[in-house]
Amino acid sequence: MKAILINKDDDTYAAKLSDVDESGLPGGNVTVQVDYSTLNYKDSLAITGSSPVVRNFPMVPGIDLAGTVEESSHPEYKAGDKVVLNGWGVGEVHWGGLAQKARLNGDWLVGLPEAFTPKQAMAIGTAGYTAMLCVLRLEKNGVTPELGEILVTGAAGGVGSVAISILAKLGYTVTASTGRPGEQADYLKALGAAEIIDRKELSEKGRPLAKERWAGAVDAVGSQTLANICAAAKYGGTVAACGLAQGFDLPATVMPFILRGITLAGIDSVHCPKHRRMEAWSRLAADLDVKHIERMINEIPLSGVIDAASDQLAGKIRGRLVVDVND
Ligand code: NDP
Repeated sequence: MKAILINKDDDTYAAKLSDVDESGLPGGNVTVQVDYSTLNYKDSLAITGSSPVVRNFPMVPGIDLAGTVEESSHPEYKAGDKVVLNGWGVGEVHWGGLAQKARLNGDWLVGLPEAFTPKQAMAIGTAGYTAMLCVLRLEKNGVTPELGEILVTGAAGGVGSVAISILAKLGYTVTASTGRPGEQADYLKALGAAEIIDRKELSEKGRPLAKERWAGAVDAVGSQTLANICAAAKYGGTVAACGLAQGFDLPATVMPFILRGITLAGIDSVHCPKHRRMEAWSRLAADLDVKHIERMINEIPLSGVIDAASDQLAGKIRGRLVVDVND
């Protein structure tokens, strides 16, 4: 089978498109023929070696896949079933989705929702499912559309694009923060953003408490941006933090927490329990406009993955990179 394979020794770290013997597939009770995978930010970190995402070598990266069960001894799945996989350490410690086949633990799988093709499911991928987890958290914390503006950062990226689309469909007023306001304004408005702001407004050191603006936020950026969002969250607001595109530090103060009762809600997709994943995927099927998914897709072949990973880390990609592993 064809796969992206990452090897590391004392001097080199290299990802290559390779022919891999299927006998090398790891243990697991479900073998899947992969139809599509995707490049998430984390995959690009793994492929370029910019961050220590991969912990066993050689490794097939790819934290997401959608495909067809070829063989299964798991009670919930049989040959021919369409499935989706997000996270669980796949592509980090267990061979992942950037390959024509994968062998997995069936407990990690979710059935492909009828609303989506495998390609659309990968256009959503971990980025989109994480965006939905963020929206679910805002809802659970009582952030309703009439409470005011919701900020989405890293807006033109994967998490941001999907979050804007879902929130707008649910009736929220969305402000999109992007580093590419000129280039991406039309795209972000087409997804449902009511206002676009330049991310420079949020990325520099600000005051511990600023004028109250955000009823809620989905933050894919972290660092000073996240500190500034908390400082400008409205009384009782919730900030769902899932990313670190600006940095993994958080130079914040306790002031918005103790004076405005805001909540900073951490969102993890990798080890999120199965019932929450099922809820997220069923809400994606209900609340994400398929026309918007199509607008987000940049399709690439497996051979294009390595170049695309550098472009993604350089912030040059808009929306979602979907990988046809059989091309
Ligand atoms: P993308 O690469 O698709 O998007 C990231 C976006 O962040 C870019 O498009 C850009 O948006 C913005 N950005 C890039 N660099 C900077 C910077 N220096 N400062 C501020 N903004 C920047 O990535 P994803 O959407 O897939 O992931 C976003 C983040 O969420 C990543 O950090 C990722 O690791 C994390 N993540 C976490 C998950 C979890 O389980 N917690 C799951 C999925 C993702 P623009 O051009 O609009 O400014």
